[in-house]
Amino acid sequence: MKIIYIRLYLIGLIYNFAAQKKEEKESMNYFKQFVIQFGGLKNGDHQFNFDVSDEFFEKTEYSEISNGTVNVDVLLNKQENMLVFNFVISGFVVVNCDRCSYPFDFEVSGGRKLIVKFGEEKYEETDEILIISKTAHQIDLSHYIYEYINLLLPIKKIHPEDENGNSTCNPEVIRKLKILENQDSTNPRWTELIKLKKK
Ligand SMILES: [Zn+2]
Repeated sequence: MKIIYIRLYLIGLIYNFAAQKKEEKESMNYFKQFVIQFGGLKNGDHQFNFDVSDEFFEKTEYSEISNGTVNVDVLLNKQENMLVFNFVISGFVVVNCDRCSYPFDFEVSGGRKLIVKFGEEKYEETDEILIISKTAHQIDLSHYIYEYINLLLPIKKIHPEDENGNSTCNPEVIRKLKILENQDSTNPRWTELIKLKKK
């Protein structure tokens, strides 16, 4: 009996391992489109455009965003000793509202610059400057794109107001929250809850 369990366990392990490898390979294939082979490019301007979709967020490890449609325009200015990338990001991602906890489309739009220099002086790196090996000939922009999209999100994400200045939060949740707020505030549990919701 024990042997059967061990065999089943092993089969399970092998199956999981194979599935994981397959997933990793699919993910690598997907992200290939975000790799810029700058080695073969002439000095000067080069334009790239990326469509970031649900798949991008699904395949990004530990992504806090799971859905969205974002267009990323990248202008690369290749120079003799550095690469200057200008990112223009526009689209939306689905986030959960911090007030009513329902999901909504949050508009993301903004620009970012990334300067890539060649060498070993890692201490020169900043948010904007990346140092890579002199022998490198390609760069994967996917995690910069993910990071830049995240930087466009505020810490507190709340449903926008409509044209009349009314909240577009889930009305049922808001109604319940209001009832909570009007409860006897001497009850410490309510006060704590209200405090939490107000954060
Ligand atoms: Zn809301």
